[in-house]
Amino acid sequence: MLTRKIELSARDTERFHKKYLRGNNCWEWQELLDGKGYGILSANHNNFYAHRISAHLAGMDIDNKAVCHKCDNPKCVNPDHLWAGTLQQNNEDKLNKNRQAKGKDFGMRKSKLTQEDVDYIRDNYYQKNCRVSNAKQLASKFNVHTDTISNVIKGKGPWAIKQPQQTED
Ligand SMILES: [Zn+2]
Repeated sequence: MLTRKIELSARDTERFHKKYLRGNNCWEWQELLDGKGYGILSANHNNFYAHRISAHLAGMDIDNKAVCHKCDNPKCVNPDHLWAGTLQQNNEDKLNKNRQAKGKDFGMRKSKLTQEDVDYIRDNYYQKNCRVSNAKQLASKFNVHTDTISNVIKGKGPWAIKQPQQTED
């Protein structure tokens, strides 16, 4: 399983950092690639996706998440170009909770999106093979530009991702 939990020794971490070219834009993996062009690192008798390792090392929470490329370059391991998307099938529960929560304005008057909409978009956005996304469908559902969907997903500008709040159980 390429999506297994990433646990690398210091030595393997060092190996990882030697296998890509660090540029101003994409950092392209220079070694083993899978059939779709994603970088692979073999470590401790396992294969790991290089971009998942990069996201992990950058401190992203990638457990049960897909690590996707903003730059659409499967070889790229630049953490600035990566984001962890929640797998849709794991989100039914969360989605139901969000539906029950009261929609609240995001603090941006010109936007039509409420916090509830933003949560919905984040929970329901997906990219097939990290490529073909449903951004268009979401954009038309909420009557906004696809760039807005993209910004919501990336947590850009007014859509900065807040730290999760403590819930009372
Ligand atoms: Zn890139």
